[in-house]
Parts: sequence; C-alpha cells; structure tokens
Amino acid sequence: MTTAPTTATAPGTEEIEDAGRVDVLIVGAGVSGIGAAYHLMDEFPDRTFVILDAQDNRGGTWWTHRYPGVRSDSDLFTYGYRFKPWRGPAIAAGGEILAYLDEVIDEYGLDEHIRYRHRVTAATWSTADRQWTVDVVRDDTGQRLRYTTSFLWMCQGYYNHAKPYRPRWEGMNRFQGVILHPQQWPEDLDLTGKRVVVIGSGATAATLIPAIAGKAEHVTMLQRSPSYYFAPPGNDPLAVELRALDIPEEWTHEILRRKFVAQMDLLARMSTESPGDLHAFLIESMRPLLPAGFDIDKHFTPRYRPWQQRIAIVPDGDLFAALREGKASVVTDTIETFTEHGIRVSSGEEVPADVVVSATGFNLSLFGDVAFAVDGEPVDFTERVTWRGIMISGVPNMAYVFGYFRHSWTLRVDLVCDLLVRLMTNMRDKGATMVTPVLRQEESDMPLLSFADPENFNAGYVMRTQHLLYKRGDREPWTHLLEHEQERDILPKADLDDGTLAYR
Ligand SMILES: Cc1cc2nc3c(=O)[nH]c(=O)nc-3n(C[C@H](O)[C@H](O)[C@H](O)COP(=O)(O)OP(=O)(O)OC[C@H]3O[C@@H](n4cnc5c(N)ncnc54)[C@H](O)[C@@H]3O)c2cc1C
Repeated sequence: MTTAPTTATAPGTEEIEDAGRVDVLIVGAGVSGIGAAYHLMDEFPDRTFVILDAQDNRGGTWWTHRYPGVRSDSDLFTYGYRFKPWRGPAIAAGGEILAYLDEVIDEYGLDEHIRYRHRVTAATWSTADRQWTVDVVRDDTGQRLRYTTSFLWMCQGYYNHAKPYRPRWEGMNRFQGVILHPQQWPEDLDLTGKRVVVIGSGATAATLIPAIAGKAEHVTMLQRSPSYYFAPPGNDPLAVELRALDIPEEWTHEILRRKFVAQMDLLARMSTESPGDLHAFLIESMRPLLPAGFDIDKHFTPRYRPWQQRIAIVPDGDLFAALREGKASVVTDTIETFTEHGIRVSSGEEVPADVVVSATGFNLSLFGDVAFAVDGEPVDFTERVTWRGIMISGVPNMAYVFGYFRHSWTLRVDLVCDLLVRLMTNMRDKGATMVTPVLRQEESDMPLLSFADPENFNAGYVMRTQHLLYKRGDREPWTHLLEHEQERDILPKADLDDGTLAYR
C-alpha cells in the first residue's frame, strides 16, 4: 500500500526505484513484525504500511531454522499472540508455528503488505521533511529501491539470519566429513547410518539430537560445559482437560496463558531469590530420566545460575530417552582438533564423526545491520541509550520490538505494540509529527551500563557483541527490563509525557 512509485536516479548512484511512501514501515516478517502489523491495523486502520523482509518467506526465526525437530522452547499459549488462540500442543514444532502465523496473515489480510527479498540497508531521518528515507536491495534481482515513511518500526530480531556463528577449530580443513550449522540445514541431508557429532548443548542441540537419533547410527552431544534442561509434558494436561470440556478456545488460551505466565514468574523469581533451590530442582527432575550410572555432575550440572541463559526445554524428556536407549551420548570436554574422521578432545579421546553439526548459536545483529543516520549524521549506537528497550535516544520516530529472553518473546511483542499504539495516539492528539527520546537535564550525567548485565543474562551471542550495542541507564525509563512480571505493570502505565520524549 504505497503511494506514487516512480523511478529516479539519485545523484552519483545507479538507478534507484522510488517505491513510494507509507505511514509506517515495518522491517521483518517474523513473530514481531506480524504482531506489529496486526496492532497497527487494529488501532489505525487508515494508516498505510508495508512489511519488508530480506528472506523469501514469512516467519523469521521459524523460516530460517528448519532443521529436524525444530520446535519452541516456550509454551505456545504465551508464545502465541494475545489476540489469536493457540489450538495445538503446548510445545510446538516450527512448522506448526509457521502455520499459526499463516493464519494470522490470512485473517488480517497482511499478505498484500509484505514484500519478501527486500533487504533494508540504510535508513536516514530528515527533520525538515519529517520522514525516514529507507534504502532497500532486492536480493533476488539486485534492484535498489527507496521508500519513505513517517515511522520506522524495527522488528528485525536479534541475529544475522544469513551468517550463523561458526567458530573455527584446529584441523577443520582435514576433516573428511560434512560440517554444517542448523541455521543452514540442507533439505536433502540423509543421516541414515551416519555418526553425527552435535557441538553445543543449548536448545538447538537438545531439540535436534532426539529428532535425528533414530536415523543416525549414533549421535554424540559434544559440549564444553553443561546447560540446564527441563522436561515438561509436550501436551499440557490442563490444556487436554479444558479442550475435552469443549469450552471456547479463547477461554482455554487465556487460562493457559495465565497458568504459564505464573509458572514462568515463579521460575524467574526463584532464579534470583533462591537459585540454589531452582538448580537442585532442575537437576533432580532430570535424574530419574537418565540412564543408570550417568555422570550427571559432569555432563548436566551447569556452572552458571539457572536463567543466566535460557533453560532448554525437553518435552516428554525425549533427549533423555535417546540417551537411555543408547542412540545418543554426551562428551563434556574442549575440542583440541578435528581429525580426518572425527574430533579429538583435550582428554585425548577421539569422537568419530561423518557429520558435525555446529549448534554454536548466532551472530548478533544490531537493527538488522541497517546503517542509520539522523539529519546527515551517522548514528553510533554505542553512544546511545535505550528508552524502555523500545526506542533509542536521539533517534526520532523509530521503535524496535525486542522480546523476552526468559518469558516468551511474544508476550513483549503485544506489550510493546500496545505502548507504541498509545504513543502514536499521543502524537496524533498533540498534532506532533516527530517524537524523540531525550535525556533530561538531571539524566545528562547518568551512568551508562552495557546492554545486558552478565549477572542477569550472559548468553554467548550477547556477551560476544556487547561492545557494539547501545547502552542502558541506571534508572527508568532508560532501562530494558527483562522480566514480564515487572513490565506488564510498568509498560501499560508508562507516562509518555514525563519529559523523556520530545514531541514536535
Ligand atoms: C531455534 C530457535 C528457537 C527459539 N525458540 C524460542 C521460544 O521457544 N521462545 C521464545 O520466546 N523465543 C524463542 N526463540 C527466539 C526467537 O528468535 C524469537 O522468539 C522470535 O522468533 C523473534 O521474532 P522476531 O520477529 O522478533 O525476529 P526474527 O524471527 O529474527 O525475524 C526477523 C526477520 O527480520 C528480517 N530482517 C532482519 N534484518 C532485516 C533487514 N535489514 N532488512 C529486511 N529484513 C530484515 C529477517 O530476515 C527475519 O525474517 C528461538 C530462536 C531460535 C533460533
């Protein structure tokens, strides 16, 4: 829904097609971008908008990650949107999540607004024109496009979808087998009879291993250090019971959302107030599911506090079943070198492999690697401060959606979108065309903190990139809270006229 597309040649550049103007431009057609579009349409049906995504299909994370067994870690009652009941099992396969997103796209007619293979490369704000100029490259044709928009809604997620994190190890060149990353899983890969080593022990490894254990000759999980696991039933018993009563799905959805939110609150609270108890609970709940004599201290007892990194969910304990059945095993050690036929670890043991899957995580990508400028000045985000984890100091008419690490990502999508709708209403009521987060006089010497406090959350992809990210202040609203329990009270009441937002 753009206006007046024409073809123009910018001075000194190759031909750039003017793709027209929209009121709101959303970057990303994943869970966040689709949620943002719904909230925008619901509250401002007359505003024009477009959703641009670099990939060739919808779903973001769930389109990028199509390795065997890919599934959610969160329950789908809270990972699903507030406005669209989830009808499937609590823990869902990637394909089921894509099907749910397809229903949202269909029901709200979002398809006509989405442009695939449109990679945003630059965004330049002009205060004089009160608009962003957004440069786009079409990855399929190489064509360059230019959109203009009053408001940029960044829903680009947190990692680079095209370039996964691949550490280099000694001897990789001489390895005669296949090395791959789950982010780029070959559709036709046949693991029948293969010896597979999965490097890593996070959610991806925990998901992939049981899914391929039946086919492969053997799967070894090779981890440097252990992660936390929790094994709830894949099909929540309360959901089964409520559905048997044939009550409206909206009720079931809401009841289960409340149940899972309460459960996550408890886990999050325990992780700070009584981490020792939570640690013991997680370890003890695994013990009966593991093979007799399994060295749980060595392999499954993490060195960090629960929730400093995500707890990997193992629905119905399927990872542990693969271990019990002898189809999978665990090696906890550091990699010394790849050899021709496997990996040698520090103990001297050589783990044989035909296929090595490096489930080693992501390269964090800040705002989709878009080059931002405001009135001709490039934005150096390391000098900027977040406003509630939603906007950035000194960057007008730009908001971003960044979900929770511990609770379901999407719980924050709905909350942030509610706030942004309120912000847009406030702008309309004031007749403002520009809103910019600005530090107040008394905040000018506020200590600036790194993006994440490692005591609170220290996942590798964040720690590797902290130095490139924007900062937090030491007080509201210059914080990015990670707890839904706090934010669900704070965000709906956040004062949008407290002097930290400059309207013009
Ligand atoms: C395997 C896996 C399982 C996960 N499971 C859970 C879970 O159970 N619960 C949970 O809460 N979280 C989970 N997560 C985290 C997950 O990333 C979020 O839940 C959520 O999917 C993020 O959605 P998003 O729309 O914000 O971003 P993404 O899903 O990352 O989508 C962003 C989209 O923006 C596009 N984009 C980025 N930059 C640009 C650009 N410059 N131009 C154009 N398009 C761009 C990308 O192509 C992508 O399609 C999981 C992550 C992974 C990898």
